Amino acid sequence: MTKRTKEDVLETANKFGINLVRFLYVDLCGLVRGKASSLPRFKDRLDTGIGLVKGMIAMNSLDKMQSDAGFGPVGEVRLVPDLNTFAVLPYVNNTASVLCDLIDLDKEAWTLCPRSLLKRQLKEAEALGVSIQAAFETEFFLGTRDFDGRVTPIDTSVCFGTDGMNRGSKFSNRLVDYLHRQRLQVEQYYPELGHGQHEISISHMPAVTACDQYIVLRETLRGLALEQDLVISCAPKPFEDQPGNGCHVHLSVWDQYGERNMLYRDEGGLSEFGMQFVAGIVSHLPGLCAITCPSVNSYRRLKPRSWSSAFACWGYENREAAVRVPSVYWGHEMASSNIEVKCIDSTINPYLALACIIASGLDGVRKKLSAPNPVSCDPADLSDAEREEIGAAPLPTSLHKALVELEADVYLMKTMGNALANTFITVKNSEVQAFALDADYELLHHRMRY
Ligand code: GLU
Ligand code: MG
Repeated sequence: MTKRTKEDVLETANKFGINLVRFLYVDLCGLVRGKASSLPRFKDRLDTGIGLVKGMIAMNSLDKMQSDAGFGPVGEVRLVPDLNTFAVLPYVNNTASVLCDLIDLDKEAWTLCPRSLLKRQLKEAEALGVSIQAAFETEFFLGTRDFDGRVTPIDTSVCFGTDGMNRGSKFSNRLVDYLHRQRLQVEQYYPELGHGQHEISISHMPAVTACDQYIVLRETLRGLALEQDLVISCAPKPFEDQPGNGCHVHLSVWDQYGERNMLYRDEGGLSEFGMQFVAGIVSHLPGLCAITCPSVNSYRRLKPRSWSSAFACWGYENREAAVRVPSVYWGHEMASSNIEVKCIDSTINPYLALACIIASGLDGVRKKLSAPNPVSCDPADLSDAEREEIGAAPLPTSLHKALVELEADVYLMKTMGNALANTFITVKNSEVQAFALDADYELLHHRMRY
């Protein structure tokens, strides 16, 4: 993707009659927040950023700041934009957005900035001679709101059914157009298993861009739904009686020249490097879940026999394994070699999630871990003893349990750094408490908010 310059961004902003430019960041609950600058002041703010109270990082998804994490009304960072993320927003008038890093007043990346954490992890990868490409596939629910306020799915189509394609076509066509205008490349779109459930996938990109584009996608989904008077939810489990929404992430690992896919093996299957990378991810899954399935609602989705993965294992073409190695494409065997993490949903902060997944994989490579045997059946069909024998332990069954696992994972805690890890755990535990007594409120909250 061509890099943006200041001149090019300002010229585009003028050409499109932009009034406001949103300076956006993603909080620890995966919510996109920000402040907008007027166009005349945008030029200066490209360098100076916009001030943000540090305490915003301790906000939970109920908009309650967690002072226990050590934050209050004092202390500021700057929202400093990455020019390459500049986009004219197609779903609102005269508005553009940029994605930002959280920069401390000493001009260094703030220790609690998730986007900067991902960049640091990529440096770690670089030190091992590799770079990472990634792509998120997002599942979501689309519905209409009746005059009595009831939500009805836009279709009752079968999985991949053409009825769902037809009923969703006004949305999907406009969505593809809006994404292309914002420089995203769409791979596929189709109706999923649930009523009104749809899925879109975006081409793989270098890790930070993949996260940026996933945020652009999430914003566009919501913006377009509003424009078309539809109800949308990317929550992991918006309705108890319908399939959950995953947000699977695909990863490939490339050598320093970007020429050789390190996961690829001429004879088929995963390379030795790939095995170590997968072994690293699988070994950290219990704690990693707190980051990749980071809401109370996530654990309604993460159940056996729902293709969301509920056991810490990996397998070739296995949609019940937490790490799936998909089949490769004819004639593009090396280019298409990748791994998919399935225990992940749209309540993530993508930068934090990808940083921790990559860190886990690299841990396996550094330690030369050997991978457990790939699982070639639905692990839910095995007895407890059989699962124990192959090391396919159940993943945590609640956010609370996942947070306990994260706290016990010294490597992941160190990867995040004390300040970020403790704030994340405090914020997330506050949500565990907030929803502990009211399951209906929890469902409604996540359905609406994500
Ligand atoms: N909806 C499933 C999930 O929650 C995924 C189905 C699929 O394999 O695409 O992850
Ligand atoms: Mg799917």
